[in-house]
Amino acid sequence: MVTQNEKIEFDVLFIGGGPANLAGAIKLMQLARQNNLELEVALIEKGSQIGAHALSGAIMNPIALKELLPDYLKKGYPLETIVKGDGFQFLTNKKNIPVPIIPREMHNKGYHIISLAKFTRWLGSLAEEMGVNILPGFAGTKVLYGLDGKTVIGVQTGPKGLDKKGKHKSNYEAGFDLMSKITVFGEGARGNLVKDMGARPGIFKKKKMPQIFETGIKEVIQLPESNFFKTAPYNDIHTLGYPLGLNTPGGGFIYEMADNKAGIGLIIGLSYEKPLLDFYDEFIKFKKHPLIAGIIKDGKVLEQGARAVSTGGLFTIPKLFSNGALFAGGSAAMHNAPGLKGIHLSMKSGMLAAQTILRAFQKNDFSEKTLCSYDENFKKSWAFKEIQKGRNFSQALAKKGVLKPVYLGAQYFTNGRGIRDSMPLIKDAATLKPLKKEISIKKKNFDKNYFDDILYVNKLTGIYLSKTKHREDQACHLIIKDQAICIDKCYKTYQCPCTKFCPGNVYEIEVNENSRQPRLILNPANCLHCKTCDIKDPYNNILWTCPEGGGGPDYTIL
Ligand code: SF4
Repeated sequence: MVTQNEKIEFDVLFIGGGPANLAGAIKLMQLARQNNLELEVALIEKGSQIGAHALSGAIMNPIALKELLPDYLKKGYPLETIVKGDGFQFLTNKKNIPVPIIPREMHNKGYHIISLAKFTRWLGSLAEEMGVNILPGFAGTKVLYGLDGKTVIGVQTGPKGLDKKGKHKSNYEAGFDLMSKITVFGEGARGNLVKDMGARPGIFKKKKMPQIFETGIKEVIQLPESNFFKTAPYNDIHTLGYPLGLNTPGGGFIYEMADNKAGIGLIIGLSYEKPLLDFYDEFIKFKKHPLIAGIIKDGKVLEQGARAVSTGGLFTIPKLFSNGALFAGGSAAMHNAPGLKGIHLSMKSGMLAAQTILRAFQKNDFSEKTLCSYDENFKKSWAFKEIQKGRNFSQALAKKGVLKPVYLGAQYFTNGRGIRDSMPLIKDAATLKPLKKEISIKKKNFDKNYFDDILYVNKLTGIYLSKTKHREDQACHLIIKDQAICIDKCYKTYQCPCTKFCPGNVYEIEVNENSRQPRLILNPANCLHCKTCDIKDPYNNILWTCPEGGGGPDYTIL
């Protein structure tokens, strides 16, 4: 049994197998070839395979893909379909009103509808063919620093085969110390390593606005052969209004996919205020709206999942470089909030990071002095210009009542400047409003026709359809810092919102029948790795840590 971490040396290490890092790794291999440079490059991914944790709408602006791989069509690119037109609808309880003017950022005609799980898997196979060591099932659990305590020199991966108390089981395998000259962090929204680095002095700039997030629940539904999208003039529908109303940021979407499938989802801005907002219920209500129910009629849910997205945009982008490290993709808040798109921006950030890495190897300097060119090139790129135009969008969207359209309109007509530039952002964990009175927790007693286990599946079936698996006898990866806060403060003030926002049914409150004393129970094996609890818990009392590598969902078509 090996109990010591083995050290493995790489030139460049990418953390996370999302679009930013995969595009970055491919670009780096292309540049290395063109410049006769031999590089040992590795990419680790905590999911069981590339794409297993990848989930997005997803409409992709193909601009970055065309730059990276001009011959993408010849390489087996997994396109679902092309957007033929946009349908934007305002939903009331029972009706839908087509929105006559679709904001320019949401003009998607000609863009690609993809499955991010399939797309990243495809990019992963191309990267591997080009010589990148693709290492799925490895969870980065600790950033390794040099003697100065600031220079990143690699990442430690977690061990496998520990029991609930942290003792070695017979199949114990130590983690690895993956050493590298440059580490690229592209862990996606709320990456645990980037979060740890943010708390360390000297890595990120002070006085940045807090990152803010939205969480989406998505399904892929098999539709009958004769379906809405066959004859409709559009195959990309976005909705506002019901079920969230106008004071809770977010909205729904439904897109056509290949082979008579549809991608459907509801996105909720985590700056919402209502502690009792149950994400899963809202998603089912959205599906049951007459317009949506008509489109998905006679369908069958094939796969379900959930993920948080970093949507704060320009003012929340961290410093993009540090000694030995670069930050890309969702980890660096690369997102066009008004356009609801980030894949192309993530890819571009990875590609720009690759150019900087090449320069660093040519100069043999991996310090900030050289790596700062990543930030300079980003500021000159189309990606920066695009993100800049949406810089006050999330803030405007979080406004209430009549102020919302005023603020949204102002930033729309002034190319992002708006009424105030920059508008401040509040941390998502600080926006819940305390309940006026304590309400006793009752299990919802849904009409027996509410779920049918085919098109309207309950939460537990949804988790089953996400193919989420964790080894059951490992230590709980969700750390409740102080159990007393859950009951003495959170239950009394907010009724434990984790039991409502968690799409994985991980948190449950059980009330003892005799003592009436509530108790928080955790089902960590259900965790979808969406990170909502780490972001939204009002007492910052939940810490999401990385479970054993290879655990979590196993998305294939989301
Ligand atoms: Fe998401 Fe947290 Fe629930 Fe896991 S436990 S599914 S990260 S909210």
